[in-house]
Amino acid sequence: LERTFSILKPDATRRNLTGAINAIIEKAGLRIVAQKRIHMTRGQAETFYGVHKDRPFFGELVEFMTSAPVVVQVLEGENAIAKYREVMGATNPANAAPGTIRKEFALSVGENSAHGSDAAETAAQEIAQFFAGNEIV
Ligand code: ATP
Ligand code: MG
Repeated sequence: LERTFSILKPDATRRNLTGAINAIIEKAGLRIVAQKRIHMTRGQAETFYGVHKDRPFFGELVEFMTSAPVVVQVLEGENAIAKYREVMGATNPANAAPGTIRKEFALSVGENSAHGSDAAETAAQEIAQFFAGNEIV
């Protein structure tokens, strides 16, 4: 079984949508094996999205991710990384398929409700940024 890292973003916690999103995750056959609600610091958000630091939306992204609590999660399942990206839908909700998290809930390309790792290496790094091994059960 594979693991991926997920964040339910501030637009989701603000609108009280974490349970509705978790229902979609679980219905897709992914198991939530770790989960906590945190308010990200600026440093955590800058580290997490470091790959985007030269993009024009970086400042806005860090502001958004620190604007309200988030729920960080580890999801486990067969092909969890690809499966969760499918369940989330396209980055821009205008392009997301029906039934996906972003189609159902996202407000915009920035406030798009969920994050999911894009590869095995980034999944491992992202999980390690937020969870100790013994917190994943
Ligand atoms: P994520 O990494 O959050 O799972 P993703 O892999 O679909 O999303 P990336 O290209 O990695 O998309 O962008 C990371 C995040 O940066 C997006 O989820 C979105 O919140 C934000 N973002 C991306 N493009 C834009 C943009 N043009 N304007 C504002 N925010 C953006
Ligand atoms: Mg990404």
